[in-house]
Amino acid sequence: MLKLYDTQSGAVTPVEAADGKQLRFYCCGPTVYAAAHIGNFRTFVAQDVFRRVVELGGLRSKHVRNLTDVDDKTIRNSVAQGIPLKEYTATWTNKFHDDCQSLNCLTPHIEPSAVAHIPEQISMIEQLVDKGHAYASDDGSVYFRISSYADYGKLAKLDKQNLNLGQTANGRADTDEYEKDSVADFVLWKGRRDEDGENYWNSPWGEGRPGWHLECSAMSHKYLGADFDLHSGGVDLIFPHHENEIAQSRCACGGHFSRLWFHITHLLVDGAKMSKSLGNMYTLDELVEMDYSPASLRYLLSSSHYRRPLNFTLGGLKDATSALNKLGRINKQLAKASGAKEPSYRDFCKKQPVLGIFAPAWDSLEDDLNLSEALGHVFSGIKGMKPAEMSCDEATQTWYALRFICEALGLQLPDPDAQVEAPAQVIAIAEERWRARVEKNWAGADELRGKLSELGWSMKDGKESYQLSKN
Ligand code: AMP
Ligand code: ZN
Repeated sequence: MLKLYDTQSGAVTPVEAADGKQLRFYCCGPTVYAAAHIGNFRTFVAQDVFRRVVELGGLRSKHVRNLTDVDDKTIRNSVAQGIPLKEYTATWTNKFHDDCQSLNCLTPHIEPSAVAHIPEQISMIEQLVDKGHAYASDDGSVYFRISSYADYGKLAKLDKQNLNLGQTANGRADTDEYEKDSVADFVLWKGRRDEDGENYWNSPWGEGRPGWHLECSAMSHKYLGADFDLHSGGVDLIFPHHENEIAQSRCACGGHFSRLWFHITHLLVDGAKMSKSLGNMYTLDELVEMDYSPASLRYLLSSSHYRRPLNFTLGGLKDATSALNKLGRINKQLAKASGAKEPSYRDFCKKQPVLGIFAPAWDSLEDDLNLSEALGHVFSGIKGMKPAEMSCDEATQTWYALRFICEALGLQLPDPDAQVEAPAQVIAIAEERWRARVEKNWAGADELRGKLSELGWSMKDGKESYQLSKN
């Protein structure tokens, strides 16, 4: 059975469905104001592996992940670019979906958007006001009264004695993101302001828009109820976002909210957090442009424990590509020796194959999603393996076991015999070299061959055309 480190209790805890049937979990989704960076994808990939291990372990799941399409950032950018909010966020939502597909992430069962759930958010604020946990201010905003919830700070282990609540100018925080030292009554509803342009809705407190923290409380309640099994996000969300979600949800709905909390440590670049605001980020497109595959990135993001920071380097991505190619070669040899039909993820959810030499890899996955250890076991398993010398049955069993672990990790293995498509830059140089050859400019052609080689490509000349291959 899968066990996971729970941020709230600080203990590695069995992941079970409270209703005995279906694991209900909520992941904070992307803020759709730009392309997600690969740090964001460390979190989304870890959550994807979590879901895969749950389902391949024989449990059904209900996975809800929201789209943050109304907050300070989406509004600021759409207003600055003069594009209606819906149109602006649709572009980045589509981009996010494309990237998720390239990275082989399963689609959540429900993907609610904040803009589509304004009435639910208003209704939650009304309940909080009615119960005395929230109050309206003069400018038509509504704030959550932190002092009304005694357990505030339990998840983030805030030392309330040393935190002077209400330390901001007016004892309130009205931006969506704020720092630990400014714990304050946080905004649930923001009264309409000029800088929000046309992005406002009617409410009992006048025109305005919801604060960021509220959407996850309202939408998780709608789709998963007042009590559900697990909630997840990157570690930066523990405070204030998740702390605020707990306070709002418990005070409005009375339930326990999430039983378990699964947080993923950040992806770093040169030791610093990768983030859009620091400008040290990579997107998937940038890496693909450099000729790396999404599968290599997924492998790299899986190569370190989710509770440890992972420092991203291009060298690491190169190593990930080699490791993936190695697995691709063994996979192909096993498939050939087996001659059986390739099973799908759905087949494996219904029935686990005999895992044999790959059983330790599965055990590592079930033990707090220890992906790096699991990969270590996979490579120990294939060491010295000679599929061509195996019987059909042995090859099939080994192949199915390898495929099962790869499905759990969401790894799409490359076909070693597939023609690799050359990037545009390489094709342009090859064309130039072909013209140089036709013109009998041998020195120029040699120089361009050198350029191709630097980029890791070779060119084989035929009579009428040429062939490009990767070195
Ligand atoms: P955002 O789009 O900023 O709302 O973030 C989407 C998800 O990515 C959230 O769960 C964040 O906690 C997570 N996240 C943000 N930056 C990083 C990072 N550098 N490494 C890992 N996860 C991150
Ligand atoms: Zn959230």
